[in-house]
Amino acid sequence: LGETKIAVLGMSGVGKSALCVRFLTKRFIGEYDQANDNKYKCTTTLEGESVTFELLDTRSNDDDMGARDDVVRWADGFLLVYSVTSRQTFDVLADVRRRVEDMKKVSHVPVILVGNKADLAHVRQVTQDEGARLAAELSCSFMEVSASEDVTKVMDAFHTLCREIIEY
Ligand code: GDP
Ligand code: MG
Repeated sequence: LGETKIAVLGMSGVGKSALCVRFLTKRFIGEYDQANDNKYKCTTTLEGESVTFELLDTRSNDDDMGARDDVVRWADGFLLVYSVTSRQTFDVLADVRRRVEDMKKVSHVPVILVGNKADLAHVRQVTQDEGARLAAELSCSFMEVSASEDVTKVMDAFHTLCREIIEY
């Protein structure tokens, strides 16, 4: 039986809440609570094993990207989310990753880099290659997803991170 505590970090508007709600309910509802941190707990089966997910959907401001001390201390692993439609949301994540590593003070912190809004091809600013390159630099996993269109990949992103957390 595994338990994983996951914090979802990234600039506001990248789709952190949309990804959490999609993972938990399989639905995309379009408008999300922006005022609060939201914490969720659910139990599911992953490769025949029962796993409890605790998710913290952070209310990020653009100074901290949600990576506040209490959040980082609490979590076992991190979804670092940017929007492929905004280079700025991508560029800030290397710093967030560093901040997380500094605060955790352990040699390996499970992280997955997630490029959201892959459905918005016509306004894309960050290529899939750039995402893969940053992930290699930060030595973490990487996926492009769309919270609005592709539930399978969203599930995959959370499950990949979960497996990494349980293995460590
Ligand atoms: P947060 O501030 O990071 O929690 O971002 P939200 O989850 O509130 O999403 C911000 C806006 O982007 C909302 O209007 C969402 O409906 C929209 N959004 C989130 N994910 C996607 C996606 O994958 N594709 C598209 N087209 N819109 C998305
Ligand atoms: Mg939100």
